[in-house]
Amino acid sequence: MTVPAPGYKKLSVAIPVYNEERVLPQLYARLAAVFDALPAGPHEIVFVDDGSRDGSLEWLGALARVDPRVKVVALSRNFGHQAAISAALDHVTGDVVVVMDADLQDTPETIPRFLEKHAEGFDVVYAVRHERKEGWLLRASYAAFYRVIKSLADIDLPLGAGDFALLSRRVVDQLRQSEERNRYLRGLRTWVGFRQTGLLVEREARAAGESKYTPQKLFKLAFDGIFAFSTAPLRAATVLGAATIIASLAFAAFTLYERVFLGQSPAGFTALVVGITFLSGVQLLFLGVIGEYVGRVYEEVKRRPHYLVDRVISAETLDAEYATRETVERPTKKRKQRSENPKSRTRTTRP
Ligand code: UDP
Ligand code: MG
Repeated sequence: MTVPAPGYKKLSVAIPVYNEERVLPQLYARLAAVFDALPAGPHEIVFVDDGSRDGSLEWLGALARVDPRVKVVALSRNFGHQAAISAALDHVTGDVVVVMDADLQDTPETIPRFLEKHAEGFDVVYAVRHERKEGWLLRASYAAFYRVIKSLADIDLPLGAGDFALLSRRVVDQLRQSEERNRYLRGLRTWVGFRQTGLLVEREARAAGESKYTPQKLFKLAFDGIFAFSTAPLRAATVLGAATIIASLAFAAFTLYERVFLGQSPAGFTALVVGITFLSGVQLLFLGVIGEYVGRVYEEVKRRPHYLVDRVISAETLDAEYATRETVERPTKKRKQRSENPKSRTRTTRP
């Protein structure tokens, strides 16, 4: 039996990390085991430290010193999950890239299954959550969100697919070219197109620590998803406005009929108050919706970078660091010798 060609030379695994010191050793051990069983290589792990305040960066820095497959990109502060993934995509060098979370909710053992699908010719293989291990409230909110976005978005976003996915080099290049700020990467990934497929995957519970997504961050992500891929909320204002005008005209006709033919003058203070409060509510709501889009336009035109890199720790940067250290040390030694010799000191100060 012949072993089929793997269809790739170098795999890069891209992992955003924010305060994950408790899971990192386990994550690395499991990833390394998966790497050892893969053909081709050497493969690569790109960790993006998203401004962690625990020992994550120190641990990763030490790891990069002993394992040349590890590259660490330290951001200047916390920029958020999506920006951290963007940073990772800008630093990977493999011809296939797997994006995964650090907390082992995305299992490293799924990677070979992704690669099999890639070998069948798929550019994007995304994990579809088989079953969530979160609380019922969170599960219900996720389900509702995915349904809303699916019905609103201009692209066909797959249900239950997160950021855990394999991307081919050309997909990564296309994603990198998209310069939008508030990125909703799983949406962009769908938007890119090419051949895509989902893979049913169990989503494990977090290995340690707690979720970094506050309800606030989740809402931001949900809004980014909806507003970045749909103008339906704007259209809703038009539809609702038209409906209100029709209702109002009908009511006007009815009042006129009452007055002329039945001789009744219109009464109804309550109806007036309800009408006014309801319509002011609707107007404020849509002002907010327009505000969301205007705010996003403002964010885009500022053209600030998505993230800032503090430093990169990898085999190359470490080599360069050692090389400069040597060249820096030599002149200081000479200077020391010269300062011990009083004659040479006068020569250097008075040319
Ligand atoms: N993360 C990050 N920056 C953040 C928040 C999270 O890089 O501001 C990382 C985090 O370390 C993890 C991944 O993004 O690797 C997903 O975060 P988390 O597990 O907290 O989200 P959840 O799985 O609960 O949606
Ligand atoms: Mg998680």
